[in-house]
Amino acid sequence: MKAMKINPHLEAMKMLDEAIALSTRPASDFEFLRQAEREICVRLNFQRDDGRWTQALGYRVQHSSDLGPYKGGLRYHPEVEIEELRALAFWMSLKTAILGLPLGGGKGGIAVDPSLYSASELARLTRAFVEAIHLDIGPDRDIPAPDVNTNAQTMAVFADAYGKLNAAYEPAVVTGKPLAIGGSLGRHEATGLGVISALKSALATAGRSIEGCRIIVQGTGNVGAIAALEALRLGAMIVGVSNTTGSFYAPEGISPELLKLLLESAAAGASVQLAVLEGAGAKRLSTPEFLSQAADVLIPAALENQIDLDVADVLQADFVIEGANGPCTQEADRRLFERGVVVVPDVLANAGGVLVSYYEWVQNRQRDVWSRDLVLERMAAKLESAYQDLLEIQASYEKKGQKIRLREAAYLSAIHRIVEAHELRLG
Ligand code: GLU
Repeated sequence: MKAMKINPHLEAMKMLDEAIALSTRPASDFEFLRQAEREICVRLNFQRDDGRWTQALGYRVQHSSDLGPYKGGLRYHPEVEIEELRALAFWMSLKTAILGLPLGGGKGGIAVDPSLYSASELARLTRAFVEAIHLDIGPDRDIPAPDVNTNAQTMAVFADAYGKLNAAYEPAVVTGKPLAIGGSLGRHEATGLGVISALKSALATAGRSIEGCRIIVQGTGNVGAIAALEALRLGAMIVGVSNTTGSFYAPEGISPELLKLLLESAAAGASVQLAVLEGAGAKRLSTPEFLSQAADVLIPAALENQIDLDVADVLQADFVIEGANGPCTQEADRRLFERGVVVVPDVLANAGGVLVSYYEWVQNRQRDVWSRDLVLERMAAKLESAYQDLLEIQASYEKKGQKIRLREAAYLSAIHRIVEAHELRLG
């Protein structure tokens, strides 16, 4: 029987509690982090292609602006709701803090199934959303970006609608835009490449290399598809891949030629049917079975709470690199640690996306264009140094006789930075 739906915000708060318990500061210093600064919920009216009007709920949760303007994606998904966005906005505050960026955290979305609407209907929906929230966003206020089921095209319409309302095009209001209207080279592939750079850091710490690594990837969205392609390029073997059309596993590896074809079209935004993999010798499995098959590495790059305690008990990978936000429950994360599995937490593993979003925002504000190499070199160097910072925090606790998880180290680093800024601002 399917367990009750797990509340992502409660999971996030349990993780926060664990970090607070490890801090030398009193717990009360961190209390403000439990609530967003502002939560916006708007009814959006938009017109169908046949002329009828319909509605959807839009949200923006602005968690913390202590370190700078709110930053975070927008997702279009039927299960979007306030508790999920509260968790996701909180995690964005942690991500930007861990990277030392002058940005806070926010997250938004619209509760719709985008597969039910045409491109022009979705464009009208996006415009309705911008009209509803344009006073609460802006390059110095809140800067959205793509997330689940949104992409550069969504951001193009978003930026255009915002520009029209302000009688001036301002590219820095959103990131993840197409190159032609102020997007950054490297932004499209940043999150997926960042996941692989986090994997390489974790492997290096364990004296291992990515070549020959057997990897399971859950999700063929922008993150999963690009991470899998990069892993293949570096000589790894993909033994499992899944998306909403099914989960497929082959212990000897899935044909790289076939995979590349599928993943390249997925990375370009097409919805791909994975059933063809059955013809190539892969087995179709249920999600929990799929996640716990033999592999060196598991990259969950789909939605929240995929790895619960039951999966954590039987998961066989040595490394879990969180491409998605919140794929492990707090209890599962703890169990994996007890079992010796290295989990690189979402707030670092998928932070390449927001990092290059920051580079895009900087380029927009300076009316500058950086080369792809410059963007990706800066990203890799920053992610590696952030990873080393977490190892140092772990080592400092180890000296005191306490073994802490990478997630706890990441939370400690972020919440201390945010609280310091918060207190300075309060005076
Ligand atoms: N949606 C991405 C995330 O969850 C990127 C956010 C951004 O670039 O602002 O990190």
